[in-house]
Amino acid sequence: MTEHTQVSSSGKGLSLNSRILIGLAAGIAVGLILRLLPGDWINVWLIDGLFQVVGRLFINALQMLVVPLVLISLICGASALGDPSRLGRLGGKTLALYLLTTGIAVTLALTAGLLVKPGAGADLTSAVEYVGSTAPSLVEVLIALIPTNPIRAMAEGSMIPIIVFALLIGVSITLAGDAGKRTRSIFEDFNDVIMRLVGVIMHLAPYGVFALITRLAFTAGSEFFGNLAIYVLLVLGILVLHVMFTYTLVLSLLTRLNPVLFLRKMWAAWLFAFSTASSNATIPVTLRTVEKRLGADNKVASFTVPLGATINMDGTAIMQGIATAFIAQAYGIDLSVTQYLTVVILVIMASIGAAGVPGVGIVLLATVFAQVGLPQEGIALILGVDRILDMARTAVNITGDAMVTTVVAKSEGELDESIYNDPEAGVIRDDESPAHP
Ligand code: ASP
Repeated sequence: MTEHTQVSSSGKGLSLNSRILIGLAAGIAVGLILRLLPGDWINVWLIDGLFQVVGRLFINALQMLVVPLVLISLICGASALGDPSRLGRLGGKTLALYLLTTGIAVTLALTAGLLVKPGAGADLTSAVEYVGSTAPSLVEVLIALIPTNPIRAMAEGSMIPIIVFALLIGVSITLAGDAGKRTRSIFEDFNDVIMRLVGVIMHLAPYGVFALITRLAFTAGSEFFGNLAIYVLLVLGILVLHVMFTYTLVLSLLTRLNPVLFLRKMWAAWLFAFSTASSNATIPVTLRTVEKRLGADNKVASFTVPLGATINMDGTAIMQGIATAFIAQAYGIDLSVTQYLTVVILVIMASIGAAGVPGVGIVLLATVFAQVGLPQEGIALILGVDRILDMARTAVNITGDAMVTTVVAKSEGELDESIYNDPEAGVIRDDESPAHP
């Protein structure tokens, strides 16, 4: 047993999860208490001052790492694969699983929406106009696959062109003999350094989460009533069902691993996804979780996690499926079976085209609505409750990425089961110095 696991299993110190949970609960309490206090100073100095600064700094710190981490980690991963045909096989399996789970997600959502009818009997006449933007077309997406200027792609944080660039460099490293070996060892050193930084930033998460949640609790509206409450509860219910049923089933069927361990190890990543509402910003934490806690090798994870954060959004698909049924019912519009099938395809495409940033799912819903002829102002109605759903669906989005990573890693013989089966593997505790993340 290593020194690290001895410290962890002795139970000394709170785990990072517990500390983040305390930050979250304290944030809700402080936010609600501050709502009751009079005076402008609370808004000016605390909500839009201190808490905004701390919360943003925390999200910035995570986002700061995304581009360098994805680039470097993926170059290491692709160059370690050795054989470009392995990359093709890996890509095929990953895409197939991402599409399969998103397909199940939207089907579950539409079925629930049609059975529960959350929008039946709603009065939507007071809706205000909502101006949404649209998703890029397929041609635009394809052309953008290869960046003309990789530095610009990095500056703009465009994930897919960065992934393509990193894969090409990684493959070229394997072809470049001695120069390739030297280059690879430099990138591997960089990768270790950045993963350390991820650990350091995770240590600070409880404060960041506290600030973000205090602001949220203070500013949250009281829109949760009537039909909207049914809509919110239905989306949350299907999100939970998808994680508890679809993911655990796919994981157990394809890998025979214990799904309870998988769910338990996802906690820290869930808390990050929940507080940031961004799969992209959570990439460093997801990557650390699948490598250090679930045992997936960097060769697989460096590819599947950033790709998943961009193209695999089951939680978003669930929200979009239920929202479509909800708004159609609320306006008394009967959609045909063909229209519902169109919704399934559009939702899967929207989840592929969307970047994992806050609120993007609701914006892309405008495209879905336009295609099947639902009123755009319907979106304005669900906008008020979307923030909380965004947090929950982002947690589901990254769970799908981690589950598929585990399955693909196992199928490629790149999953260390001794790490997967060790409940303490990769746990961060507050009595450890950040030097051992
Ligand atoms: N916030 C989500 C994510 O980053 C995307 C969305 O549904 O808005 O995964």
